[in-house]
Amino acid sequence: MTIAPTVIDAIGKSPLIELRAASKATGCRILGKAEFMNPGGSVKDRAALYIVKDAVARGALKPGGVIVEGTAGNTGIGLALVANALGYKTVIVIPETQSQEKKDMLRLQGAELVEVPAVPYANPNNYVKLSGRLAERLAKERPEGAIWANQFDNVANREAHIETTGPEIWDELGGAVDGFICACGTGGTLAGVGIALKARKPAIKIGIADPMGAALYSYYTTGELKASGTSITEGIGQGRITGNLVDAPIDFACQIPDDEALPIVFDLAENEGLMLGGSSGINVAGAIRLARELGPGKTIVTVLCDGGARYASKLYNPEFLRGLNLPTPPWLGARDKIDP
Ligand code: PMP
Repeated sequence: MTIAPTVIDAIGKSPLIELRAASKATGCRILGKAEFMNPGGSVKDRAALYIVKDAVARGALKPGGVIVEGTAGNTGIGLALVANALGYKTVIVIPETQSQEKKDMLRLQGAELVEVPAVPYANPNNYVKLSGRLAERLAKERPEGAIWANQFDNVANREAHIETTGPEIWDELGGAVDGFICACGTGGTLAGVGIALKARKPAIKIGIADPMGAALYSYYTTGELKASGTSITEGIGQGRITGNLVDAPIDFACQIPDDEALPIVFDLAENEGLMLGGSSGINVAGAIRLARELGPGKTIVTVLCDGGARYASKLYNPEFLRGLNLPTPPWLGARDKIDP
């Protein structure tokens, strides 16, 4: 056991967990990088730390300064924990559609929350654009100064995965990895891990698993950004080539509907003890598709982005699922049936 001087030293170095059913179904070894084990509970702790470290190194973020960000929640939770540990403050602009659990967590961490209507990126009032304008305003208004984390286009985000997540996967497997696949929010994880692994093994296959309603599957298969459908997953589903996605080395693309991803999420909870968020279901479904593409005997890594407790009121709520005609496992509604 080593002692972490601060909580930020406990970010990363997550284990790879063998996913039994996915591996058995494909004859491949499918492994999930357990990012839900980060102190803030998601893969975004890594990006948050690198964004803050970069802003400090550039002299943009001063002691006591404010970090402003537009986020679906997990980046905000990561930024708030890094900020609290290092002496900064956080202001988070979040679409009101995101889960109550993530908003509650941000408030508990002392972040100032600005809830805004969910509108497309093209709209000037989109949460990302609003957060940029708010950062500019607060930089003038607050004596301690403010920065915009700008996770979508700030490549300090993907640098976290080039320097940590990718090399960890490589070292954990001694280089014995044939494919990596995940979904995109900012694209930091996919591009960063992809760049790191391609540099070590050019023959590796890097894949994107896109949820419905996102435009990247269409972009990587036809060159055109086009979206259709919807998904209840949160934190993923990108409609443009973000700064972090520029030059991402993508070899394979698939699009995963919710009714393919959700049974995988529920099966992992019931039969493998892994309670995960919806994006992890898209990722594991994508890993299964990449495994079928590459054939048996390969090792494929994906990301278990965050834990299921963050979505108790939606993804793990049978009424919510039935309302959307989504697959609902019988055990979800079968709680507290035994008389004492
Ligand atoms: N899953 C969840 C639950 C997330 O919150 C995010 C980040 N928004 C992602 C996946 C995608 O990560 P990235 O931003 O690195 O593409």
